[in-house]
Amino acid sequence: MMMQNNSSSDKLPLGQNTKFACMEADETPTHVLLQCRGEAMQRAACLGSPASLPEALDDLGGLLSYWSELGWLK
Ligand SMILES: [Zn+2]
Repeated sequence: MMMQNNSSSDKLPLGQNTKFACMEADETPTHVLLQCRGEAMQRAACLGSPASLPEALDDLGGLLSYWSELGWLK
Protein backbone atom coordinates (compact mmCIF):
# COMPACT_ATOMS: atom_id res chain seq x y z
CA MET A 1 0.00 0.00 0.00
CA MET A 2 1.28 3.42 -0.88
CA MET A 3 0.96 6.27 1.52
CA GLN A 4 -1.24 9.07 0.29
CA ASN A 5 -0.93 12.64 1.44
CA ASN A 6 -2.41 15.96 0.46
CA SER A 7 0.51 16.99 -1.69
CA SER A 8 0.11 16.85 -5.44
CA SER A 9 3.55 15.30 -5.67
CA ASP A 10 3.93 11.62 -6.43
CA LYS A 11 7.58 11.60 -5.45
CA LEU A 12 9.03 8.37 -4.28
CA PRO A 13 12.59 7.98 -3.05
CA LEU A 14 13.62 6.18 -6.21
CA GLY A 15 16.52 8.36 -7.28
CA GLN A 16 19.13 6.81 -5.07
CA ASN A 17 17.96 3.32 -6.00
CA THR A 18 17.89 3.92 -9.74
CA LYS A 19 21.31 3.43 -11.21
CA PHE A 20 20.56 5.15 -14.51
CA ALA A 21 18.86 8.19 -12.99
CA CYS A 22 19.21 11.24 -15.24
CA MET A 23 19.43 13.63 -12.29
CA GLU A 24 17.44 16.17 -14.32
CA ALA A 25 14.10 15.44 -12.73
CA ASP A 26 12.59 13.61 -9.83
CA GLU A 27 12.74 9.92 -10.59
CA THR A 28 9.04 9.32 -10.19
CA PRO A 29 7.63 6.06 -11.54
CA THR A 30 6.01 7.92 -14.44
CA HIS A 31 9.22 9.76 -15.28
CA VAL A 32 11.29 6.59 -15.14
CA LEU A 33 8.80 4.59 -17.22
CA LEU A 34 8.10 7.20 -19.87
CA GLN A 35 10.55 10.06 -19.90
CA CYS A 36 13.85 9.51 -18.16
CA ARG A 37 16.73 10.06 -20.55
CA GLY A 38 19.16 8.32 -18.22
CA GLU A 39 17.23 5.08 -18.67
CA ALA A 40 16.27 5.60 -22.31
CA MET A 41 18.37 2.77 -23.71
CA GLN A 42 17.30 0.22 -21.12
CA ARG A 43 13.69 1.33 -21.47
CA ALA A 44 13.72 1.07 -25.26
CA ALA A 45 15.30 -2.38 -25.10
CA CYS A 46 12.70 -3.69 -22.67
CA LEU A 47 9.56 -1.69 -23.36
CA GLY A 48 9.99 0.16 -26.62
CA SER A 49 8.58 3.66 -26.39
CA PRO A 50 5.41 3.59 -24.32
CA ALA A 51 3.33 6.74 -24.79
CA SER A 52 1.48 6.44 -21.52
CA LEU A 53 1.68 4.70 -18.18
CA PRO A 54 -1.12 2.23 -19.01
CA GLU A 55 0.72 1.32 -22.21
CA ALA A 56 3.93 0.70 -20.27
CA LEU A 57 2.09 -1.32 -17.65
CA ASP A 58 0.50 -3.42 -20.37
CA ASP A 59 3.82 -5.12 -21.06
CA LEU A 60 4.49 -6.87 -17.78
CA GLY A 61 7.32 -8.97 -19.13
CA GLY A 62 9.08 -5.91 -20.49
CA LEU A 63 8.36 -4.02 -17.31
CA LEU A 64 9.94 -6.71 -15.17
CA SER A 65 13.05 -6.88 -17.29
CA TYR A 66 13.29 -3.07 -17.25
CA TRP A 67 12.91 -3.00 -13.47
CA SER A 68 15.52 -5.71 -13.23
CA GLU A 69 17.85 -3.56 -15.35
CA LEU A 70 17.18 -0.64 -12.98
CA GLY A 71 17.99 -2.76 -9.97
CA TRP A 72 14.48 -2.41 -8.57
CA LEU A 73 13.98 -6.15 -8.19
CA LYS A 74 16.80 -6.82 -5.77
ZN1 LIG B 1 15.37 10.62 -14.87
